[in-house]
Amino acid sequence: MTDRQGYRRALRERLPRAQERIATAAARSGRDAGAVRIVAVTKGHPHGVVEAALAEGLRDLGENRVEELAEKSPRFEGRGVRWHVIGHVQRRKAGGAARMAALVHSVDSVRLAAKLSRLGEAAGRRIPALVQVNTSGEAAKGGFPEGQALDGIATVAALGGLRVLGLMTMAPFTTDGRMLHDTFRRTRLLLEAAAGIDGLAGRELSMGMSNDFEIAIEEGSTMVRLGTTLFGERPG
Ligand SMILES: *Cc1c(COP(=O)(O)O)cnc(C)c1O
Repeated sequence: MTDRQGYRRALRERLPRAQERIATAAARSGRDAGAVRIVAVTKGHPHGVVEAALAEGLRDLGENRVEELAEKSPRFEGRGVRWHVIGHVQRRKAGGAARMAALVHSVDSVRLAAKLSRLGEAAGRRIPALVQVNTSGEAAKGGFPEGQALDGIATVAALGGLRVLGLMTMAPFTTDGRMLHDTFRRTRLLLEAAAGIDGLAGRELSMGMSNDFEIAIEEGSTMVRLGTTLFGERPG
């Protein structure tokens, strides 16, 4: 059995379950499940997982490392994949992210934003981006600290080579529901507070992973980044 067939069989069972959980969480909070997009996180899996995702109709795929994206994406050119860069981008790798990503979720500093913006301007386009905010308060997490987030969003949204569509956050790794609700809610409130900022061109909230996406949806997520719950544990 090829890994593609194995992944496809697993995904055929797992995707409807994930979609149902999304629908239930959306209904619980009076939201339309159609307003929540799945970004299927293929990082750490072989190419068979991308084939399986495409076969099941998923088109928004996420990678956290530019190197892995550069390795995977050429094989799937012309297949309608929208690649999402979801992990920290080193400035020297910004060129790859600018070229390959349909959306960079992890704009976590003004310096990275400025570099991406220059690349966008050189290419004659505005690179779609989200500003990553650190609403978990964990030092190890990336993103603009909450107290500097509004200034950060304003600075990034003013750059001519970016199209800033909203915010992204990563919750603490915990099963404490209250803490998760709180992190996601504060991210939504930041987006609401940022609504009047010039150049902010969207209302996307990228929040929620396999272990916390239902809570993220209840708090307003429009993009859930799902790896394990769709594809199982990453090998290695
Ligand atoms: C790996 C990763 C995910 C997916 O994690 P799962 O727990 O496997 O769903 C989501 N977001 C980011 C930024 C990641 O690096």
